[in-house]
Amino acid sequence: MSRILVTGATGFIAGHAIEALIKGGHEVRGTVRSLRDPARVAHLHQIAYALGGSLELVEADLSGDEGWDAATAGQEYVLHMASPFPATPPRDEAELVRPAVDGTRRVLEASARAGVRRVVMTSSLAAITAGRPGDGERRRTEEDWSDLDRTAPYAKSKTLAERAAWDFAAQHPELELVVINPGLVLGPLQHAAAGTSVALVRRLLNRELPAVPELGFAPVDVRDVARAHVLAVETPAAAGNRYICAGENVWFGEIAQILGEEFGPQGYRVPRRRMPYWMLWTAGRFDREVRLGLDFVGSAEQVSADKARRELGWSMRPVRETVVDTGRSVIDLGLVRARSS
Ligand code: NDP
Repeated sequence: MSRILVTGATGFIAGHAIEALIKGGHEVRGTVRSLRDPARVAHLHQIAYALGGSLELVEADLSGDEGWDAATAGQEYVLHMASPFPATPPRDEAELVRPAVDGTRRVLEASARAGVRRVVMTSSLAAITAGRPGDGERRRTEEDWSDLDRTAPYAKSKTLAERAAWDFAAQHPELELVVINPGLVLGPLQHAAAGTSVALVRRLLNRELPAVPELGFAPVDVRDVARAHVLAVETPAAAGNRYICAGENVWFGEIAQILGEEFGPQGYRVPRRRMPYWMLWTAGRFDREVRLGLDFVGSAEQVSADKARRELGWSMRPVRETVVDTGRSVIDLGLVRARSS
């Protein structure tokens, strides 16, 4: 049993990580920006209670120093998951870059002061593949880094935050760093708040898009991402490594097809027609969420998770199971509605 801090406890991945850690018998503390709204953390207390585990929540914001020393005090491990991940592009990239980078430094500095043994940071494929479209010949690996001159603000925030973490680790050998780089994270929601990545599935089931944009992703199940973080805590030799956690490229159309096959008979009319670029571009002028997709049209996400399989003993479930469980959870939580015609 270890004492483990999870930053950004209200997040989609963090909730599953907290559940996996409590199931593993660990004592968990989580940071949230504010404890003022109990509804935002009720699901976490329910999970801890149902599992008979221990969960404490404390306040800390990536944009300020306050709270981080108290949060890291007495902890052996930190899962640093908090980072801005908005569903729409920011007006100014600093809105994402500054809290991601400065916040990562704050978490690492406080961890070093508190004598934390290891920090496991949630980075992203956005720090590996952004601005470097696949050449069809070589899958991207942990050796690759995104091109900062050709990245959107979110990818920039993840790339710079991860670089800042490695720079810090190089100067503080007493603090071990492991980085997890997930692909597009789908999977069941624990409560009725669809995060940015699950919004894609919600929009398809709700028929908020008239057709399917040609977007390629390397998806991964949130439960498998949570397990990767637990393995990164438990595997001594993981120190100093980054690990891609993502599957084969899947086109958005394939996700739509799985959802249509599974939920079509229940009245969910999932679009199947391919959306031409001009239509996506036009939709993006009015819909800021759609605008985010413009950067990814037509390019496949080809990466290798062999290192995580080999060194962490990690595996991931089939994409179909992930997509179906995502769809079922947004339906069960009332985030979409069936249409009969
Ligand atoms: P969520 O948006 O669900 O969670 C993000 C978390 O970060 C929330 O708890 C949020 O708190 C917190 N946060 C944001 N800004 C701040 C801030 N200034 N100070 C403190 N906390 C802050 O996203 P996910 O769970 O999907 O993502 C978790 C991590 O995984 C992120 O680092 C993300 O970049 C990374 N990731 C996600 C992928 C995905 O497809 N979902 C893919 C690859 C990486 P609050 O609730 O208060 O807003």
